[in-house]
Amino acid sequence: MGKSGFPKFRATQIFKWISKNTPFDRMSDLPKSFVETLKNDYIDIAINIDKEFKSVDGSVKFLYRLCDGNIIEGIYMPHNYGDTICVSTQVGCSMGCAFCASGIGGLVRNLEPGEILGQIIAVNAWLKGKSKITNVVLMGSGEPLDNYENVTKFIRLANHADGLNISQRNISLSTCGLCDKIVQLADEGYGVTLSVSLHATTDEHRQNLMPIAKRYSVAEIIKAVKYYFEKTGRRIIFEYSMVKGENMDFFDAKRLKELTKGYPSHVNLIMLNPVKEKNVKGCTKEEAQRFLKRLNDMGVSATIRRSSGTDVGGACGQLRRSVIKGKENE
Ligand code: SAH
Repeated sequence: MGKSGFPKFRATQIFKWISKNTPFDRMSDLPKSFVETLKNDYIDIAINIDKEFKSVDGSVKFLYRLCDGNIIEGIYMPHNYGDTICVSTQVGCSMGCAFCASGIGGLVRNLEPGEILGQIIAVNAWLKGKSKITNVVLMGSGEPLDNYENVTKFIRLANHADGLNISQRNISLSTCGLCDKIVQLADEGYGVTLSVSLHATTDEHRQNLMPIAKRYSVAEIIKAVKYYFEKTGRRIIFEYSMVKGENMDFFDAKRLKELTKGYPSHVNLIMLNPVKEKNVKGCTKEEAQRFLKRLNDMGVSATIRRSSGTDVGGACGQLRRSVIKGKENE
């Protein structure tokens, strides 16, 4: 018997069904009376796709509706190495980065593990068996390590052989750099790909872009990611959104070389997605190419990230913002 008073094997049955987006009524190997109990006390489908926006590049942006009416967004990207989904971990975000739309209204609430998993389940169902999500990036709205317990439970659920069976290597967790939690993740034996939003090479510059930089220095971040590498053997990815006049001169390139030296790492340069409410300017393609060449010439492993779905909602958080704003103006 489990804690709920039902035999433990029922949990496995339900978990298998839930992973296939099946409502309680269609869980055919459960007794009818048990189904009624479940319907009264639990939620079977945590996430529903509210709207979809197909991009010319093949990616699809989704607006999902949660059971309490909150809206979150995500994007599905078919890639040659596998179908990838970008999922949100919080409704809103409390980090307040200078260029990011997700944090504009602050944090509304954490997502439950089932709500993070539910985004994958919903999109798998939408794909109708034609394809299946194999890769997950925790790069939607929210700061995953600010919702540590739920996000790590999500990783265990997504990884489970009875469920979606997605390998931890195929899950990328993107964080603004909560160093204690990076260390905890490593100590607890997780092996997801770690992406750290660096975005600047000095504390002063980083503080201009990311309030969290007042809590953790660049040096502390590098110490934490090196520890993560030592424990997991996983290459570290740095995200670096290029901001005009802020973070892409010769000295930034030199400092990036120093910061990424001595352990396997890669710098993902990101073209800034302009956010109406934010006064931060991106750079031109030529300026980005110049910065990339400078890094590569110095021996830094770096590429410019291909951006998906820019024609259907732009940077993360913007689609949800546009819905909320539309409602405010109604
Ligand atoms: N909270 C996590 C996940 C955020 S979204 C984190 O900070 O890493 C994933 C990436 O998109 C982060 O690197 C984030 O800084 C970046 N990002 C957010 N808004 C952006 C914008 N308007 N243009 C370019 N990159 C952006």
